[in-house]
Amino acid sequence: MRLTRYFLPVLKETPKEAEIISHQLMLRAGLIKQQGAGSYSWLPLGYKVLMKVQRIIEQEQDRSGAIQLLMPTLQSAELWRESGRYEAYGREMLRLKDRHEREMVYGPTNEEMITDIFRTYVRSYKDLPLNLYHIQWKFRDEVRPRFGTMRSREFLMKDAYSFDLDREGATAAFYRMFVAYLRTFHRMGLTAIPMRADSGPIGGDLSYEFIVLADTGESAVFCHADLLKKPIPAIDTDFRGDLEPIFKDWTSLYAATEEMVDQQAYEASVPEDKRVSARGIEVGHIFYFGTKYSAPMKAVVTGPDGKEVTVHMGSYGIGPTRLVPAIIEASHDENGIIWPVSVAPFEAVLINLKAGDAESDAACEALYGALRAAGIDALYDDRDQGAGGKFATADLIGIPYQLILGPRGLKEGQAEIKHRQTGARETLPIADAVGRLKALIEPQRRDQV
Ligand code: ATP
Ligand code: MG
Repeated sequence: MRLTRYFLPVLKETPKEAEIISHQLMLRAGLIKQQGAGSYSWLPLGYKVLMKVQRIIEQEQDRSGAIQLLMPTLQSAELWRESGRYEAYGREMLRLKDRHEREMVYGPTNEEMITDIFRTYVRSYKDLPLNLYHIQWKFRDEVRPRFGTMRSREFLMKDAYSFDLDREGATAAFYRMFVAYLRTFHRMGLTAIPMRADSGPIGGDLSYEFIVLADTGESAVFCHADLLKKPIPAIDTDFRGDLEPIFKDWTSLYAATEEMVDQQAYEASVPEDKRVSARGIEVGHIFYFGTKYSAPMKAVVTGPDGKEVTVHMGSYGIGPTRLVPAIIEASHDENGIIWPVSVAPFEAVLINLKAGDAESDAACEALYGALRAAGIDALYDDRDQGAGGKFATADLIGIPYQLILGPRGLKEGQAEIKHRQTGARETLPIADAVGRLKALIEPQRRDQV
């Protein structure tokens, strides 16, 4: 992409309304624009990141056996009356009426609708296990929308719903999602720690939130330091086999959110020098809730013995529009964002130090063509302006590698590569630059764990 033909509205000043660094940087780097309270447009650069985040989520969901569909945002109030949540859900739920005075809600979540889909089509235990997911906008009229897309009113959620014959089956579904989540966040360059969370009226221990540690996190969390450097399980790509040992291994070390923490247990089980009490951002939540919706909504199948069984369900959420700021909170410096390659809007930026100079232009055109031919998603800064501004933009928008070429280098046949994360610079023959970038970038694309 040529920058002169792109739409990248970067801001010089830090917007005053933004309290936390990710929100400031998302506005400054032209990723988002606020449209109303807790409502944002995703501008082209931000949208590219969001799509990469979603792609990783989809790949890991698919790999775990979940199947993607798409449900609408507007739902009939009737469905919510069936589960009893139309009355129970508080003012976070946006209720509206259509021209026929039919009561609707803008979905804050989709348990009712997915249960309705399930009961319409599935009749037999032979069709289980089943896990269906979608990535769709949600609306929650949050009391305090803040921090940009971190806590907005309209936000994207990947929500998956599992259906099983019994608790045992549902537990296996839960473990698959648990492992899928570990892999998902890792591929985005995040260390997300599974922490026991409140499981509400259902009880039991199958409710985990995935938390990214950050000073600006909204909740206090407590955990064992070793969880921060645990290797991610590289599992059979089809998620076959017993995943319980992985779950047990990860959850044997203490980790809990503030609602769940038991200070005595925490201090008893974690040696003093391993205690991490920090703040964290919730990026995902998985939980088992048994027959909470399937019972009132009559989602039943015929079991092996011919008798009717009410199915056991779980739900599994991830917030893509929250993940983008979470990644920035975890990875930035005083000059701007530092994207991990796997979610970077562009993998490299080609900086022409002297746009308008015929030789520089020709050499950069050739490099740009070579980058594309090598399959590198590159931004070409072909603007006719000073080098300082170009470096500042490249740093601000966080592109992992900068390929820099100017008249002086051209004379010597040399280009420069700057690594955004470490600040390291290497000078190399122009002819080797694209090959070197490819070698740097490819292993970091992390299609696998
Ligand atoms: P929170 O405690 O932060 O309000 P929640 O418990 O209401 O989150 P869930 O209902 O479990 O969240 O939703 C699943 C995921 O959706 C969350 O883990 C988070 O990533 C995302 N999410 C929830 N609310 C918002 C929001 N207002 N803005 C952006 N993302 C959100
Ligand atoms: Mg909430």
